[in-house]
Amino acid sequence: MTQAETTTEVQKTLSDFMPGGALAVANPMESRKWLLGLNREELSTLMADLGEPAFRAKQLYHWIYHRGARDFDSMTSMSKSLRAKLADIATLDRPTATSHQVSEDGTQKWLFRFADGNEAETVFIPDDERGTLCVSSQIGCTLTCTFCHTGTQRMVRNLTAGEIIAQLMVARDTLEDWNRPGEDRRLTNVVFMGMGEPLYNTDNVIAAINLMTDGDGISLSRRRITVSTSGVVPDIEKVGAETGALLAISLHAVRDELRNVIVPINKKYPLKTLLQAVRSYPGLNNAKRVTWEYVMLKGINDSVEDAKALVQLIKGIPSKINLIPFNPWPGTDYECSDDETINKFAQIVWDAGYSAPVRTPRGRDILAACGQLKSASERASKSRRTISE
Ligand code: SAH
Ligand code: SF4
Repeated sequence: MTQAETTTEVQKTLSDFMPGGALAVANPMESRKWLLGLNREELSTLMADLGEPAFRAKQLYHWIYHRGARDFDSMTSMSKSLRAKLADIATLDRPTATSHQVSEDGTQKWLFRFADGNEAETVFIPDDERGTLCVSSQIGCTLTCTFCHTGTQRMVRNLTAGEIIAQLMVARDTLEDWNRPGEDRRLTNVVFMGMGEPLYNTDNVIAAINLMTDGDGISLSRRRITVSTSGVVPDIEKVGAETGALLAISLHAVRDELRNVIVPINKKYPLKTLLQAVRSYPGLNNAKRVTWEYVMLKGINDSVEDAKALVQLIKGIPSKINLIPFNPWPGTDYECSDDETINKFAQIVWDAGYSAPVRTPRGRDILAACGQLKSASERASKSRRTISE
């Protein structure tokens, strides 16, 4: 099969799922409604249909997203009969974690299986004063950045808002992070840097962010949520306007000729168009900067000239630069730049006045580092395909 045919096939699969309706969680025969991912209005409609007053919907919302209730029986502010009624028609089940690994450095990785059997990964990265959850927005990715493991995965569909928020809710279950005062929380930040391109699933990503940040529910700060895109220009403004989240751009190359190859969406939205969209990102200022992600690929994009061109390119835009050592995965031909080259590159960026932290790879021992995510089901189905082809 040619590359073009593969792409068409995958896009068809993706568009089939574009409306992103809530899938039931437990099993395909499940007739009860899955409440994870429903917002206030949707819960109000559900309660109104049961003949319940508006304040009951508020209570239900609070139990689900503020208290982290996993069943209706624990909702003691509601009558026993209402709790039983809810349990008959609805569920708060979490997706099944088919694997949960903890790295030597404390990083945790979950592989979640959703109702249709598809799987996606989520990673928690604890640090001194923050805990960052890296969530997936799609099963696989239709884009084919050449250095990214997820990009080699064929099965693709969008995750629903419920499937996105459920990743965070299970992490909070595991970390025993419900009902803690804000300053004591373990999970403080969310980055959309797991599997998938968030801006190919914009509406569900926006709905999930708005649940994460709602003051009566999970109540994370909007400034602690970052959406990373490879450069899907048409939706950049929308996600900023509707969520107030921070923006990260997977830049990785400063010339169109190279970016066309390693981040192929650049052929559709070249650097000039991308830079224009970033300049107009809502609320961008020195306190709310864009993060430019730049993966260090040995001999490909790591020269002194590249570093100089990078600082020229982003001149005038409130920016941070995140240099990411390339994380190898089985089958890749790329190598990570050596330390000396990375340091030289970082120094040029630093001298131009930008903070340029080199991201310490986390959870490499459990394949949880950037770009290493790819679900076990896909690995299994791929090897099956290889055998039958
Ligand atoms: N699809 C989105 C978000 C997920 S990828 C995007 O591309 O922005 C999160 C980050 O990891 C991106 O910057 C991506 O380019 C980077 N990445 C992908 N593969 C990598 C690898 N093997 N090593 C290091 N970083 C990688
Ligand atoms: Fe998709 Fe991001 Fe990987 Fe590119 S880097 S293939 S956009 S997940």
